[in-house]
Amino acid sequence: MLKGKGVSTGIGFGNVVLLKKTEREIEKETIPKEQIEQELEKVHEALQEVIKETESQMNNITGTEADIMQAYIMIMQDPSLISETENAIKNLNYNAEYAVEVGFNSVIQIFENMDDEYMAARSRDILDIKNRVLGKLFKEKTIDLTKLRPNTIIVATELTTSDTAKLDFENISGIVTELGGENSHTSIMARTHTIPAITKVKEATKILKDGDNIAINGTTGEIYINPTEDEKQKLLVLEKQLESEKVELEKYRNKESVTKDGIKVKLYANIGLPSDAEVALNNTAEGIGLLRSEFLYMDSDTMPSEESQFTAYKKVAEIMDGRETIIRTLDIGGDKDLKYLELEKEANPFLGYRAIRLCLDRPSILKTQLRAILRASAFGKLAIMFPMISSVEELREAKEVLEECKKELDNENITYDQNIQVGIMIEIPSAALIADKLAKECDFFSIGTNDLIQYTVAVERGNEKISKLYTKFHPAVIQLIKKAIDGAHLANIICGMCGEAAGDPSFIPLLVGLGLDEFSMNSNSILKARKTINNLNAKECAKLSEEIIQMASAKDVEKRLKEFINQ
Ligand code: PEP
Ligand code: MG
Repeated sequence: MLKGKGVSTGIGFGNVVLLKKTEREIEKETIPKEQIEQELEKVHEALQEVIKETESQMNNITGTEADIMQAYIMIMQDPSLISETENAIKNLNYNAEYAVEVGFNSVIQIFENMDDEYMAARSRDILDIKNRVLGKLFKEKTIDLTKLRPNTIIVATELTTSDTAKLDFENISGIVTELGGENSHTSIMARTHTIPAITKVKEATKILKDGDNIAINGTTGEIYINPTEDEKQKLLVLEKQLESEKVELEKYRNKESVTKDGIKVKLYANIGLPSDAEVALNNTAEGIGLLRSEFLYMDSDTMPSEESQFTAYKKVAEIMDGRETIIRTLDIGGDKDLKYLELEKEANPFLGYRAIRLCLDRPSILKTQLRAILRASAFGKLAIMFPMISSVEELREAKEVLEECKKELDNENITYDQNIQVGIMIEIPSAALIADKLAKECDFFSIGTNDLIQYTVAVERGNEKISKLYTKFHPAVIQLIKKAIDGAHLANIICGMCGEAAGDPSFIPLLVGLGLDEFSMNSNSILKARKTINNLNAKECAKLSEEIIQMASAKDVEKRLKEFINQ
């Protein structure tokens, strides 16, 4: 048996699909004339293999998806797709790999510069084809993460956030990684989709082989290779227990989120992609407290256009059908990279060029996004939230860009919600400390404890070596949370929380006591949180929070909160 750290509960049975990353280095070589035919042949064969592969993927699909795939195949069959590549081999004597790189890139550019949105979007298809052709030339084993066999258990060194954004969650019964922490985006996504996940499994990609039959326990972090009948039975019993807990929680499906003494709160969901809004509604989310818009950007090989973002935000607005949806503007940098932005490597990325800092430095990126959100606000109740605000100046600057966008839309006679709410994340200690000032200049707060903790106690959120120090129970973190809530209430605005702490039943009584108005969490934590809230007395929670705020030690805070919830 292998063991790691369980980061998303549940039992998974399935077959291993190994994800090993190969870094490609495309070297430019000059080939002799007599090799030209051979290089041309290599490109044609690689392209044919990709076409065949795509055709076989078409067997199981129908409808719009099949139409899209058919269009994709037609692009590959069009001789002009590789004419630039052929020229690069014939006239410039480039080797096949380098010719594909430059040849396809010039076609991509032509498409990117087209005015027609549909044609411009095809550049992504061509980039994808290029990567697949190169994969064949380098004889790489490629795995289409968007289409996996049923009962797949992904085993990887580490999943990048863009890998995670692509995953075919329907067919995944587990995720096992060697690296990554409890609050990595992969872990968060796994919890959103109720997929058992285990991280910190040493040498998992060496020990486990493609196709291995394994079973995993996402609570304990245990991995069974070729599980025995006895092991299987034990896991099935556990799975049943988890199921019955789920059934018990079903009682809270149609209940209000209100304490025993009548204090109502909002229970919202955190989502990544627009389609996650359906998962949120199935889990009775009353709104979306955080749409991490960076997933849209990471799911794409080029900067998503205003049109494609508009379509995505409109989709969420429509799915949520009048319920509030808070869209956080691009929060890239830190542990989230966008290759096409070509960001410089930094010594301290979490303290660096990221989120609102990057967006204010490159306002055209922010403008494109804000225009898309504003336009989509005509189709539902959307709100805008700026991440990583550390000062009043940043908030004012971001609001100015928003005003510019509104004016542009007014001039273009495009409708949007004139009263769209504008809020900020409180995830930097400086923002929490001046919360009363910031609150006067925006409509709501959402506390991001994932970052607030790391910046308060100077502990990188994904660094396992120092993870013991990363705790929401630290009295300094709690003081800052209180500052944010009090600051918001002084200015009569709402204070929510969208960090992972908001969904922890042992922390909820403290948050209720401090007066938090909105709790936003992974969809699958909502029913449990509602059960917790329904069984609380807000007055008792307020007393508890007064007691906690006096404490000096994180351990004492944690102990007291556990006692309270179990009493
Ligand atoms: C947070 O920092 O708490 C948060 C919700 O944002 P993210 O986890 O996306 O950084
Ligand atoms: Mg954050």
